[in-house]
Amino acid sequence: MRTTWGSATDRGSVRRLNEDSLLAYPPIFLVADGMGGHAAGDVASRLAVEEFGQLAGRSAADPDEIHACFRRTALRLRETVAAGRTAGTTVAGVAIAAYDGSEYWLVFNIGDSRVYRLSGGRLEQISVDHSVVQDLLDRGEIDQAQALAHPHRHMITRAIETRAEPAPDYWLIPAGTADRLLICTDGLTTELSDDRLARVLTQVTDPQVAAEALVAEALACGGRDNVSAVVVDVAAASGEPDVELTVEDLDRRAVAARWIEEVDGATVPRTEESA
Ligand code: MG
Repeated sequence: MRTTWGSATDRGSVRRLNEDSLLAYPPIFLVADGMGGHAAGDVASRLAVEEFGQLAGRSAADPDEIHACFRRTALRLRETVAAGRTAGTTVAGVAIAAYDGSEYWLVFNIGDSRVYRLSGGRLEQISVDHSVVQDLLDRGEIDQAQALAHPHRHMITRAIETRAEPAPDYWLIPAGTADRLLICTDGLTTELSDDRLARVLTQVTDPQVAAEALVAEALACGGRDNVSAVVVDVAAASGEPDVELTVEDLDRRAVAARWIEEVDGATVPRTEESA
């Protein structure tokens, strides 16, 4: 699979440091939003990029390798951050994964950075936030409008951190020929609505220009947090049509079965037919 991509990051208008880091080098594309302040948050997100960056340059990445990157980042964070200090990082991204001669996007997430897919002109959030607000939404206690203004909207429930083993979520989706992926930190999505993201992504063809335009729009809206965006286009997919895969399908093919059993809550979401 040939990909083209662009990326942009900015400290924003308020924060003194940029604690976001990003990686955009096939087969892996991700953002990491570090937390901890005082040179801890930026270290945490940079460690993630260093670890996942070891997969850069390969033709595809294996799910076990991705999970190992999460664990190694946590390990190095524990070694790096002084005792008693709190530091952590989100990581959200995609890796090109090959099974049975076809290519897929392996989407991974821990925290509230996000992965979206634009397919057939429709923008769909693939990752699910690990956040207090998402939990309240899932329980039906608040609606989308309340979520946007909630006092705890920045509180996340999972991260790569020093006290616990990382528990990322994974999704496996077929790579469509016309797909465009957006990977971004919450500094983008708290400033721009999904409609606005979709407008930029459908109007701006060049992925680098699109990433820069998204970050610029977030800054124009206030830029209250660090902002990062990676835009990935599939230049040519494997040629196999989009199919809906279930975990059982994959299991029957004896592909990644062990991984799927291991990963808590792994799901393979429906794919939409491209228009
Ligand atoms: Mg942030």
